[in-house]
Amino acid sequence: MSTTKDFIVEQLKEQIRNFKSEVRASAFGRVIEIGDGIARVSGLEEAMMSEMLEFKTTKGSVFGVVLNLEEDGIGAVILGEYADIKEGDEVIATKKILEVPVGDALVGRVVNPLGKAVDGKDEISADKFYPIEKIAPGVITRESVKEPVQTGIKAIDAMVPIGRGQRELIIGDRQIGKTAIAIDTIINQKGQNMICVYVAIGQKESKIANIVAKLNEAGAMEYTIVVLAGASDPASLLYVAPYAGSAMAEYFLDKGQDVLIVYDDLSKHAASYREISLLLRRPPGREAFPGDVFYLHSRLLERSCKLNKDYGGGSITALPIIETQAGDVSAYIPTNVISITDGQIYLEPDLFYQGNRPAVNAGLSVSRVGSSAQIKAMKKVAGKMRLEAAQYRELAAFAQFGSDLDEETRAKLERGKRLVEIFKQDQYQPMRVSDQVVVFFALTAGLMDDVPVDKISKFEKDMIDYINDNQKKLPETIEATGDLSDDLSARLKKAIEDFKVTLDYLVLPSARNEAK
Ligand code: ATP
Ligand code: MG
Repeated sequence: MSTTKDFIVEQLKEQIRNFKSEVRASAFGRVIEIGDGIARVSGLEEAMMSEMLEFKTTKGSVFGVVLNLEEDGIGAVILGEYADIKEGDEVIATKKILEVPVGDALVGRVVNPLGKAVDGKDEISADKFYPIEKIAPGVITRESVKEPVQTGIKAIDAMVPIGRGQRELIIGDRQIGKTAIAIDTIINQKGQNMICVYVAIGQKESKIANIVAKLNEAGAMEYTIVVLAGASDPASLLYVAPYAGSAMAEYFLDKGQDVLIVYDDLSKHAASYREISLLLRRPPGREAFPGDVFYLHSRLLERSCKLNKDYGGGSITALPIIETQAGDVSAYIPTNVISITDGQIYLEPDLFYQGNRPAVNAGLSVSRVGSSAQIKAMKKVAGKMRLEAAQYRELAAFAQFGSDLDEETRAKLERGKRLVEIFKQDQYQPMRVSDQVVVFFALTAGLMDDVPVDKISKFEKDMIDYINDNQKKLPETIEATGDLSDDLSARLKKAIEDFKVTLDYLVLPSARNEAK
């Protein structure tokens, strides 16, 4: 008996002698607290910011991202279903910054912020992965913005032109056509060598389904990726979405291509970040946002740029969207994003409800790239339009009170009324730049002064049809040369005058004199 006992004791002693205490740099940790999509994890001393973590649960692995590095542990957000994670579960650091699949395989698809297909079609087999966070290209690699992005929206192409590599904010209250501008711009990129990425953040899935259907109908999905983090998705996915979209865009940038990316919208993105930050117990600041909320958007938008030839010459144009409350552009997030971007398109409820759609406010909208992002022909005909449109509004308000107007003011008002009519444009009806030039030319050359205001939109449509049917060469030359030479102007004028002869609704000079 005793021999067996001695033997066991010997064995144990042997084991104790051979025991080596080993310090493992722990790529392991344990969940110490879980709830609301946030996990606090002990261990993982070497974890990095934005590193991907694997949570081992009884039902398989769930992934998360490191967001807080603290002395005695880390805070992470869970991407996806966190109900299965329990306290004490093992966590493994993957040593990788969160990555998403990128590449041509994504084009034409609707994916979630982790690059998984959500359009019910087959799995996406991308062979490349990009990290979602990336330091923006430095100044040496960049070039100034000078090629246009044609939005196809007259008011924008004329007054606040957008260039390739620019960041132009679309800002306004709820339900006044912010998304409509972005979607029309995407639709108008057909045949313009542009890849589009539409990042939907916190919107209803049904709304996005409608948008995707419209894009499909217009043939725009052929060059578009939709990244969807819906209203019912956890805040962590909403937070990751724009960075993931940006990574997908950067793949094409690296290939020297031009990309247009829409973030719809960054207000909801900031709100999701606030939610996460409060759950991570970061101190709340102004409007309960954490202190680094400026960096949240600056590091995102700085990744949109125009690279110079040595670096491939590609570009990412960003159209972030911000929703304001009762037109308050001086709230925290709006002012931040206004200061980061290269201009803003300000949409105004009054204009929208009066039927001036898109409701672009000419006075408050600016593009800091300006006319260098317009083709020459457009510069010639639309150069002063923003000023004229803004002046008209002031003049019209003023003229309500006085009936005795001098000739010059009356002429300005009449011109302004027609300008406002021209800027009205229906949704899903983007207009080619050459057609826009024809319309603006007709207005600035005074060829619309004798068209009654309520007939302007009919006149515009008929004129474009007429020119394209009978004088196709003219718009083709504008498109090919990008310019409107004196000779071309003269021919265009003649063509429009010929067209006007066929009309029966013009105000005859005699009638005009009587009206005075
Ligand atoms: P939300 O705040 O819900 O995101 P939004 O500002 O993005 O709204 P949209 O959804 O684009 O606004 O448009 C609101 C409504 O206005 C839609 O019903 C849309 O069809 C209509 N609308 C937008 N632009 C135009 C336009 N140019 N002409 C006519 N209707 C328009
Ligand atoms: Mg919208």
